[in-house]
Parts: sequence; structure tokens; C-alpha cells
Amino acid sequence: HCGFIAIVGRPNVGKSTLLNRLVGQKLSITSRKPQTTRHRIMGVDTRDGYQAVYVDTPGLHIEEKRTINRLMNRAASSSLTDVELVLFLVDGTHWTKDDEMVLNKLQKSELPTVLLVNKVDNVREKGELFPHLQEISQKMKFVDVVPVSAKHGTNIDVVEKLVRNAL
Ligand code: GDP
Ligand code: MG
Repeated sequence: HCGFIAIVGRPNVGKSTLLNRLVGQKLSITSRKPQTTRHRIMGVDTRDGYQAVYVDTPGLHIEEKRTINRLMNRAASSSLTDVELVLFLVDGTHWTKDDEMVLNKLQKSELPTVLLVNKVDNVREKGELFPHLQEISQKMKFVDVVPVSAKHGTNIDVVEKLVRNAL
């Protein structure tokens, strides 16, 4: 059981941090500066019974015109053709137009998607995203919605379980 898991979201939501957390290595560059990751970076997590290939997808925002499916297929090697699961990462403290755009693309892609609400360590009194959550969940049916902290490792085990189930 081996497959691609795409980590998708606007710049600065914590995609590279999440990839590092999931793979347990400093494979992807993280930074406060948006769009530090210029190239698609993959990390492989080999476990008993499954192997997850995580794809960090920088730049999936305004100027990206391809559909997410095509983007993912391009990111994947020729031997593996599809994405088993999308991890749609958002920042629990900020909801922006770019998030909205990513959401619209994911909706069209019809790929199974988990909504990860990141930076919960920074979300005091629910944060900015939470009032939008119901609206977001109405627009798109998610496999699950999980509050996480990529930085501190909160609920990463939950994410790994969802990944395992998808593979
Ligand atoms: P990317 O552009 O989506 O790849 O985002 P990065 O992984 O580079 O992270 C952007 C910034 O958010 C960095 O300063 C990270 O340290 C920070 N960050 C990532 N995850 C978390 C988190 O769970 N909590 C907090 N407080 N900051 C985070
Ligand atoms: Mg990055």
C-alpha cells in the first residue's frame, strides 16, 4: 500500500512544517517568508504495511491555472499516477482569498480531501477561521476536519491514521 498524499494550501499555512513533521526529517525548507519553497518537495514515510509519499505543493494559489489533478500528476513520478488523499492545510488564525481559491480548485478536483486547521497553538478564543468553518464544510465535503499544530505535533497521529486508511 503505497501512494501519494498531497499537502495543499496557500503560502505560509505551514505545509513544509507539516511535511517535516510527517516524515520526521528536515526535508523541506520552512520559513516565515511566503513562497520559500520554490520547488515541489517530496518526503517518504515508510511504515509497517504502508508507504506514504507526501508532496509539498508550493505556489498553488492565484497564478496556478492547471487543475489540481494535472498538477498532482505532474508532481508524481510516471509509475504512480494518482493522489490518494489531499491534505488541505489552512491557518486557523487567518482565512484569506487565496484559501478560498484553493478550496474552489479542490472542490473541482473531486479528490478525497482532509481539512487540516493548522496553528491551533496560536488560536486563542477559536481564532479567525472558525466562524468560516461551517460555510467551508458546506461548499466541500471533507473526509474529515482536524485541528492540528504542525509546529508542535498536535494531532499529527490523527493525520497519520487518516493517511493509513487512504492507502
Ligand atoms: P508553507 O509556506 O505553507 O510551506 O509554510 P511553512 O511551513 O514555511 O511555515 C510558515 C510559517 O508558519 C513558519 O514560520 C512556521 O514556523 C509557521 N508555522 C507552521 N506551522 C505552525 C504551527 O502549527 N503553529 C505555529 N504557531 N506556527 C506554525
Ligand atoms: Mg513551504
